[in-house]
Amino acid sequence: MRVLLSIIFCLSFFNLNAKDVFVDVLSSYKLQKIQLEFPKGQYTINLDDQDLLRVTSADVILIYSISNKISLFKNAKLIGTYKQLYINSDDADANVKVVFFNKSQKIFYYQDQLYIRTLAAKLQIVNEVELNKYIKGVIESEIGNVKNAELLKVQAVISRTYALKHLDRHKVDGAQLCDMVHCQVYHGKNRFNKEISAAVDSTHYEVIIDSDSNLIEAVFHANCGGLTVNSEDIWSKPRSYLKSVVDTFCITEKQANWTKEIDKQKWISYLNSKSKQTQVPFAFISENRLNFLPSFAVSTKDLRESFNLRSTYFSVEETDDKVILRGRGFGHGVGMCQEGAIRMANLGKKYQEIINFYYCDISIVNND
Ligand SMILES: [Zn+2]
Ligand SMILES: [Zn+2]
Repeated sequence: MRVLLSIIFCLSFFNLNAKDVFVDVLSSYKLQKIQLEFPKGQYTINLDDQDLLRVTSADVILIYSISNKISLFKNAKLIGTYKQLYINSDDADANVKVVFFNKSQKIFYYQDQLYIRTLAAKLQIVNEVELNKYIKGVIESEIGNVKNAELLKVQAVISRTYALKHLDRHKVDGAQLCDMVHCQVYHGKNRFNKEISAAVDSTHYEVIIDSDSNLIEAVFHANCGGLTVNSEDIWSKPRSYLKSVVDTFCITEKQANWTKEIDKQKWISYLNSKSKQTQVPFAFISENRLNFLPSFAVSTKDLRESFNLRSTYFSVEETDDKVILRGRGFGHGVGMCQEGAIRMANLGKKYQEIINFYYCDISIVNND
């Protein structure tokens, strides 16, 4: 019970200065049985906060979820049945190898501490991990093979800001963040990309704050098509730092342009179903991103969703039986344009310059 209380205790007192995050990991699997190995570092396993079990690299631990309890075997010998386990090491480089079978064998490595309990008849694993170790894992999971140092620094500052901004998302699960795209994808320890570690370490604990000193919503998209969007044009709330900027860096990149043909009758019926106006727009050239079709009360955001368009930035051309949409960019268009940022980094721009280009009126501060 004290272990559970200690999780809640840590969470309720977590603030921007604390350096550990609690991540609900492997949360997409229905884990009934896992194997733990300890390739690096000495570990102790706290059994219901009563007994301590010491383990080394020679030991294999098997854990089963049975009737909302955990049965634990050490080297094939049953040690006991418990409500919660706390797996802890004092060694900063220690990591735990988690092995399980889900169609094929899966292996993950986690640094620092693990809390394990049963929840809804499956094992729940919460990784308490130092913030920057977590960020290194996130960046490798999200953009594993990128090597450009400045781009990795951009990603480090953005991921850190995003994580700290959303620490209250998983309170009900006894954690702060999940390991899926809902928060940020995290497959555990960064193992293969040394450049990521260097980028995270060199940006220390830097985060992005707005003019009121609040962490920003560091949103991004694939390609803006040459012009990013005000947040209020896509979502309901304006943000001082999410303002439209002209971006010449992305306009020759991979996702800069798209074309889509739509059956003319389908286009007409859709627009008529959404608006009382009868004069359906067939032909217009969008010099700028539009929120609504010219003189028509249908939002480009709704059109994007309904016709599965790559962006809200497009012109329309009419043929005999079709309308042809010629569009720019990919994604919602708010905040940082990833392909533009990549191009800026390749041109030798520094990470602070890239961040300041896409987010307006912000500061990058060290939250140490
Ligand atoms: Zn989440
Ligand atoms: Zn762009």
